[in-house]
Amino acid sequence: MRLLLTGGSVFRDGGFHPLEIAVSEGRIVSVSPRLPRDGASVIELNHHFMVPGFVDVHVHLREPGFSYKETIASGTAAAAAGGYTALCAMPNLSPVPDSPDHLQAELAAIRRDARVHVYPYGAITQGERGEALADMEALAPFVPGFSDDGRGVQSREMMRRAMLLAKKLDRPIVAHCEDESLLDKGWCVHDGEFARIGGDLSQGDRAGTARAFARAHGCVLVLKGHRTVTAGPEGNVLVNTTGNSGLAKGGSGDVLTGLIASLLAQGASPVMAAAGGVWVHGRAGDLAAEAQTEYGLTPEDVIAAFPRVCLELQGT
Ligand SMILES: [Zn+2]
Repeated sequence: MRLLLTGGSVFRDGGFHPLEIAVSEGRIVSVSPRLPRDGASVIELNHHFMVPGFVDVHVHLREPGFSYKETIASGTAAAAAGGYTALCAMPNLSPVPDSPDHLQAELAAIRRDARVHVYPYGAITQGERGEALADMEALAPFVPGFSDDGRGVQSREMMRRAMLLAKKLDRPIVAHCEDESLLDKGWCVHDGEFARIGGDLSQGDRAGTARAFARAHGCVLVLKGHRTVTAGPEGNVLVNTTGNSGLAKGGSGDVLTGLIASLLAQGASPVMAAAGGVWVHGRAGDLAAEAQTEYGLTPEDVIAAFPRVCLELQGT
């Protein structure tokens, strides 16, 4: 059957245009400002956008190994619903796809369950442990590139060898850029994560517990939550007064960490960068919640509110 899509805004050559699309047997056969009807069934798009299928090159489908979080079936169904027709799946899986053998389970699941095209990354190092290179040469025909996502390759020499080999194989390295030697100077955690790194909140005294932890570890601790506590290695503690429950969402902590890093880069002391970042983050969340409500507010709204916080601070 022939379909004719009309009234849509079609993305072509870098812009949107009022074009009609003819589809025959599931394929686009012509795109033009005006197409003959010829008995086609006409679908009115009411100014909806028509775009090529989206491609997401950094996706976690979690299968095999972590199907309780996501599966190839569920992840690709979500992708299809959102207009994505191709995904590149990250390799922090079990088994890690570091050889054609270890890639088999993932390929089988893709063949069985994927609703859109899935291109699985191969690992850079065996088991993503950073100790020996994966069998990149044998993997290359099956993968769009190599990554140790979730962990940065810590050895400069290992990464150099991987990059040279990837170049030879004409595949990109998709690096998870994290230098673990920088990780132990500060923590930015909520109560659950704090418990996991050894914090004990059983007495209910968050400020006191945070102070003791930061002192004992010689670090700066940001203990997130209602009235976020920032504690420094010298025993100083600051309790924040801004923020709301809308900030307890995935991605919100990443925004906060970026803010703290930017204040550090501008020369603030670690404790002041942390406490200042927490305050600005909370204030931006409060301003954003006025328009979006605490429930509806997203990390993007918080970022969008930063200029208003800057204006407020300049005014005082
Ligand atoms: Zn990732």
